[in-house]
Amino acid sequence: MLAAGRAASLGADVVLLERMRQVGRKIRISGKGRCNLTNTLAAGEFIKHFGKGGRFLRQSFARFFSEDLLELLHSENLPTKVERGGRIFPQSDSAVDVAKTIERWVENQGVEIIRGARVRGLDVADGRITGVHYDLFDEDGVKGSGGNRGTHQVSAAVVMLATGGKSYNSTGSSGDGYDLARTLGHKVIKPRPSLVPLCAPGAPPGGVRRLALRNIEATLWADGKLVAREFGDLTFIEIGLSGPIILELSRIAVAAIDEGKKMELAIDLKPALDHKKLDARLLRDLDNKDIKTWRDLLDGLLPQNLIPVALDVCGVPEDTHCHQITALQRKSLLKWLKDYRFQLSGYGAFKEAIVTAGGVDTSEVNPKTMESKLVSGLHIMGELLNVDADTGGFNMMGAFSTGWVAGEAAARQLLQD
Ligand SMILES: Cc1cc2nc3c(=O)[nH]c(=O)nc-3n(C[C@H](O)[C@H](O)[C@H](O)COP(=O)(O)OP(=O)(O)OC[C@H]3O[C@@H](n4cnc5c(N)ncnc54)[C@H](O)[C@@H]3O)c2cc1C
Repeated sequence: MLAAGRAASLGADVVLLERMRQVGRKIRISGKGRCNLTNTLAAGEFIKHFGKGGRFLRQSFARFFSEDLLELLHSENLPTKVERGGRIFPQSDSAVDVAKTIERWVENQGVEIIRGARVRGLDVADGRITGVHYDLFDEDGVKGSGGNRGTHQVSAAVVMLATGGKSYNSTGSSGDGYDLARTLGHKVIKPRPSLVPLCAPGAPPGGVRRLALRNIEATLWADGKLVAREFGDLTFIEIGLSGPIILELSRIAVAAIDEGKKMELAIDLKPALDHKKLDARLLRDLDNKDIKTWRDLLDGLLPQNLIPVALDVCGVPEDTHCHQITALQRKSLLKWLKDYRFQLSGYGAFKEAIVTAGGVDTSEVNPKTMESKLVSGLHIMGELLNVDADTGGFNMMGAFSTGWVAGEAAARQLLQD
């Protein structure tokens, strides 16, 4: 949308083909319906949230970054606000407002939007793009004229491919772009779910269906080596572990699981107290006259749902009197509180992944213009590229920025020819 709008604003004649009946479906569900647009971090720090892929974005961020996006949205009467961690949201807390504002801006630049148009193939002659063919669908890609052939055609000297990744495919991003790019010889790094729940046998513990833990620390271990650490909130869900810190850790965990590494996640339920301080607290509690039994002690330490797990791990009956607790039993509780461990056996599916990692190899794309180095006139951008980031508004900004830069370069190319 940004690519189309920017190219049109510079005078290019632009047609936007969107396979769904509505543009910007993913924006509408983003940020739990609030759309975390971007982040206040300066470019240098911002880029670090993309990991290795960040370097590719340096030039597009230098051209179009958070303040440019906000200027555009503010000028379209969409005020924004900053929240915890520098996350920027629309003032209205409405992702739908963001989608509608951008759609209106795109149309006001003179872009013709054809909805229900699914691109099936890219046309190339002598190493130059010449157009695309597509099928028309009546409702959300379910049925309509066309099949797999691309019965309709648009001629174009420039094509901007912004089909997204393949996660949450109900929004329209089902991975078509990977095949389209591959047919033109582009290398596609294997797409994999990212920012996704992790499967862990034994979680959720003992019959609990859903349990949220706040302010805990989780560490990720690959083949016995510590590889990442996050502090915050975690949720046990049906398949295992989710919540903000798990989504962050999943970026590393998914890749390592795919590489066949033995992965474990350790939860520190009391990160504010080191072993020594926590042991001193347990000794104090055991001496406290108001705390009579082992159960009373656990009640003061843990959420109710975790108490059966603690009882099981330590093997101490709940009605045991505090003065009967042995040093060994106290130490086993201490160890579990600081190191509640799960083997990670897998990860959630694409349909539950916030982003897709992997994608078109960025070494085959010009970072200044997003133009393919293999096919002139073809520009590739957004989540379709092999770049992905942490949560915090980074992914969306990556898509906005590469889109803008592509639109600008495409218009220049067209107007020069
Ligand atoms: C639940 C959820 C919440 C998220 N929240 C945030 C957030 O708050 N902040 C953030 O930074 N990021 C968030 N993200 C990630 C962010 O939404 C994406 O990284 C971003 O939308 C990628 O933009 P894109 O334009 O590259 O692709 P998309 O937004 O996926 O858009 C691609 C478009 O191409 C269309 N398309 C696909 N194939 C074809 C075809 N063959 N023909 C025609 N059209 C086609 C699709 O229908 C779609 O409209 C979230 C993602 C999800 C799933």
